[in-house]
Amino acid sequence: MEKSSYKKLTKVIEIQNQYDPDLRKIISKNNIIALIPIGSIEQHGMHLPISTDSDIVSKISKILAKKYNLMLFPTLRYGCSSEHTPYFNISLQPNTLQKILVDICTSLHKNKIDRIIILNGHYGNKKYIIQLRKKINIKDLEVNICSYWDFMSERMDHGGFVETSLMLATSTKTRMSFAKKGIILNDLHGEKLRLYKKMLTKSFPRITKNGVIGDPSAANVAAGKKIIHEIVKNFNNFIKLQS
Ligand SMILES: [Zn+2]
Repeated sequence: MEKSSYKKLTKVIEIQNQYDPDLRKIISKNNIIALIPIGSIEQHGMHLPISTDSDIVSKISKILAKKYNLMLFPTLRYGCSSEHTPYFNISLQPNTLQKILVDICTSLHKNKIDRIIILNGHYGNKKYIIQLRKKINIKDLEVNICSYWDFMSERMDHGGFVETSLMLATSTKTRMSFAKKGIILNDLHGEKLRLYKKMLTKSFPRITKNGVIGDPSAANVAAGKKIIHEIVKNFNNFIKLQS
């Protein structure tokens, strides 16, 4: 009886649906890898919701958790997005984001989890979460930090073809009739590209004019599914390499 309920619980990998002490039993009997998705709340043009980054990274994480038997933790739906001001964003200070993640990782380790993957879904978080490698210095705790676009060949955009296709493939929130082309970074090269990228981190609306990088007009469900398939496949190597 106990054994069968234990088996059933191991299939339910979302932490939010678990009960104690069953959960502690699962952790003690398995080599748990925790997966923590991180997103943002920020404008994504008129056609995508402010929850876009959090929504996409949550969906991808759920697929990865099922495929690779990871324990899925709640998405941290706040990130560092102040470069989008005066367009809508709710932003954490970089050191607040870092402190939250250090606390979560420390707490997970106290709960006997010794491997954690942080999967990022917002470009602006990237440089701050990479610094966590130095800030989390716990013996016997392995923390792997990555962004979902590390596992795909398409170049990431913001409300453009890639991100809009990913949203079309994973939700019903996209308003394609509002989709408008933004700045196309592929047209820029060398020093000009470097300068624009730098300026984007300071004032996103000033550079993009409409808050979009890329052209969402040809975005479609099939393209989004193809990208997700590629991410899930390439993640296999990441798990192996890091362990
Ligand atoms: Zn985004």
